[in-house]
Amino acid sequence: MTLRGPCNTAGCERKCPGEAMAQPGEAMDYDGAFASAVARLREERRYRVFADLERIAGRFPYARWHSPQGPREVTIWCSNDYLGMGQHPKVIGAMIDTAVRMGTGAGGTRNISGTHHPLIELERELADLHAKPAALIFTSGYVSNQSGISTLAKLLPDCLILSDAMNHNSMIEGVRQSGAERRIWRHNDLADLEAQLRVAAPRRPKLIVFESLYSMDGDVAPVGPICDLARRYGAMTYLDEVHAVGMYGPRGGGIAERDGAMDHVDVIEGTLAKAYGGLGGYIAGSAAMIDAVRSYAPGFIFTSALPPPVCAAATAAIRHLKTSHDERARHQNRAARVKAALAAAGLPTIANDTHIVPLLIGDPEKCKAASDVLLAEHGIYIQPINYPTVPKGTERLRITPTPFHDDAHIEQLVVALTDVWDRFALPFNDRAVAAE
Ligand SMILES: *Cc1c(COP(=O)(O)O)cnc(C)c1O
Repeated sequence: MTLRGPCNTAGCERKCPGEAMAQPGEAMDYDGAFASAVARLREERRYRVFADLERIAGRFPYARWHSPQGPREVTIWCSNDYLGMGQHPKVIGAMIDTAVRMGTGAGGTRNISGTHHPLIELERELADLHAKPAALIFTSGYVSNQSGISTLAKLLPDCLILSDAMNHNSMIEGVRQSGAERRIWRHNDLADLEAQLRVAAPRRPKLIVFESLYSMDGDVAPVGPICDLARRYGAMTYLDEVHAVGMYGPRGGGIAERDGAMDHVDVIEGTLAKAYGGLGGYIAGSAAMIDAVRSYAPGFIFTSALPPPVCAAATAAIRHLKTSHDERARHQNRAARVKAALAAAGLPTIANDTHIVPLLIGDPEKCKAASDVLLAEHGIYIQPINYPTVPKGTERLRITPTPFHDDAHIEQLVVALTDVWDRFALPFNDRAVAAE
């Protein structure tokens, strides 16, 4: 409907109903607008298609793929349920037991009636995990970054945000929504960060936002040295440990715990949806900071609390990984094994010291086609990673080995990838001598 403003009667400001009505053929073609937006993505070869999968609990990493020809068993090689905790008997047990005792939903926002005991227990567990006085749960890691960063920066008068160039979209959105002045420092570059800190007024509040483990290249930030700079220049630090919690550090506290830097990070943000196998996000830090975010963050205040069974499952996963080291050790062992096997076959992985195995393709169409062939012909599921998740020209297959991928799975993966590389004439590296 188009409002066409006042009619021609002198002095009349009224918008008459007749004037407001769209003429035939004049109204906006809403679906047409949406369809052409999607067509643009198709043209750029970055229209996304999701595989219809059904995970098989107890048989990780297998899943049933509901293919166009019917169900087929496939091997998952791209799950962020990095340790398979989403199928751990203790975690499933906690979820079922809590659902039976307390029901499914939380029944509201925390302010209305949604606060419940499993949520409180989970926040205590997380505060303990990161050795911080307090923690606060959000609906997801995304929301914790978006709402957490924007609220913190708004509460600090004239705050300057210093944001790593490779930060996740949830952090970028948090920075944007804060309305604060933002400067981007070169990825993991201490000298550039220091140069930007040096020119800022010493008394001005400064918030450094960064990740510990960047999940697309699998590289790691110098967390300790960044915190040292922050202290020297009077800045506050906000660290996304989403791809590290559960997997690094003696109790799964993340890279900051591993590096002995947890004390020096002001705000640690994490997810319950990756290594902990569930859903939800959180921040941990000082009691005053957590109380302020709890009181001011719209993304916390105006949305329903996580259900009790979801909280209980997360608590069970965190507790298990605080004392069990087998999953972490085997996870690293499997990742190293996959990297060595791919290198020996001349497949061009991006080198790193973590559990992520990025395999560069550098072309969106070939990346998608490679993924399709892997699934349809080899029963291997690796979702293509294209722009905007990664920069154009760095399209890749992102492989995430888990403790459940055995040597036979790895051999099958190498055979399948070699076939795909041959088929699409993708460049091989010199075949490296197997490191293992
Ligand atoms: C996945 C991810 C998030 C969001 O976490 P969710 O719990 O999945 O919403 C935040 N930060 C980074 C770096 C991520 O990769």
